[in-house]
Amino acid sequence: MGATRAGAASGDSDRRLGRRALLIGGAAAAVGTAALARDELSHLWWRLPGVEKPRVAGAVDFRGARWVAASPANYRRADRPDDYRIDRVVVHVTQGSYRTAVKVFQDPAHEAAAHYIVRKDGRVTQLIRELDVAFHAGNRSYNERSVGIEHEGFVEHASSFTDAMYASSARLTATICGRYGIPVDREHIIGHVEVPGTDHTDPGRYWDWDRYMRLVGRASAK
Ligand SMILES: [Zn+2]
Repeated sequence: MGATRAGAASGDSDRRLGRRALLIGGAAAAVGTAALARDELSHLWWRLPGVEKPRVAGAVDFRGARWVAASPANYRRADRPDDYRIDRVVVHVTQGSYRTAVKVFQDPAHEAAAHYIVRKDGRVTQLIRELDVAFHAGNRSYNERSVGIEHEGFVEHASSFTDAMYASSARLTATICGRYGIPVDREHIIGHVEVPGTDHTDPGRYWDWDRYMRLVGRASAK
């Protein structure tokens, strides 16, 4: 799945460049064409109002994930990775049950939601497309550059983090890293607690990072 998406995106880029150059040629000339690398032009194109990729209702980015839509108030429509580069995965803990997390992510007043929730039994639910900027990190640039994964449970309960949860979350993170070329290391796979400026502590001291990173590494190698 990842390889297909990446292939399609790069195959399209030449065709898109012609149209893009026509539309923003004026701006490019004013700034000086040399200053605008091809890469930046591509980012400008995807930030133009009304420009977005076609979408299929109910489609998910992770095979086997169940789709439950979050409230559009809890994310911003985007066209990642064309408008924003994705180079981080942020690990969260819900501080509540799966049902409560789904409920608040569907609540427009909540002002936050993550792309995925992984349940205790390992089932994965996707609520926001990876194309879009989910409000999960409490930091605008980290929201724009990351995919957020919630885990059902409580930071202060070691028992929240089950074998099934670690295994399927690791597979999910491995596919995200593969899709966007994110290095599988602790600089790029981080906890909410490590987002600059946050006052959140998740995933907390019971989250076994060594184990998780080993599982992500193993899933990435497949
Ligand atoms: Zn969090």
